[in-house]
Amino acid sequence: MHCPFCGAGDTKVVDSRLVAEGQQVRRRRECVKCHERFTTFEEAELVMPRVIKTDGTRQPFDEAKLRAGILRALEKRPVSVEAVEACLTRIKLKLRATGERELPSREMGEVVMAELRKLDQVAYVRFASVYRSFQDINEFREEIERLSANSEQPADKGQS
Ligand SMILES: [Zn+2]
Repeated sequence: MHCPFCGAGDTKVVDSRLVAEGQQVRRRRECVKCHERFTTFEEAELVMPRVIKTDGTRQPFDEAKLRAGILRALEKRPVSVEAVEACLTRIKLKLRATGERELPSREMGEVVMAELRKLDQVAYVRFASVYRSFQDINEFREEIERLSANSEQPADKGQS
C-alpha cells in the first residue's frame, strides 16, 4: 500500500477492524517514511493467514481441523449446529481482519478461545485445557475460578 502523501511504498497497519458486516476491513495505516496516517477500506481477504507453529514451521489454516476441535470441546453440550457455524464464521473473520499473512498458532488459539468462551463456557475450558496445556493444575483452577466469578455477568464487554 503506497502512501498517498509521499508515495513511499511501505506503510504499516496501526489499527484494523471489520466493517460492513465483516465484508470490509477498515485499516488505519501509517507511512513509515513521512508518518502521515490514512484510512483504507479493503475487501476482507478471502485467504486465511497461515499458521506459524511454535517450532517455526508454517502450515495452511485448516478449517476442518478447527471445526473438529471445537465439536470435540462441545461434546454433549446444548449448543446448536447453527451456533457452532456462526462461531466459526466469526473466528475466520477475526483472523482475516488481522490483515496478517501469517499468524502464530498461539494468537490464533486466543481468538478461538475468546469466541468459544462466548459460545459455551464448558467447551471453552475443555478447549483451553488442551490448547494451552496448562502448566500446572493451579493455573487450570485459577481459570475455572475466573470463569465462575465472571458467570454472574456474562455480558460481552463491548469490544468493537
Ligand atoms: Zn508518506
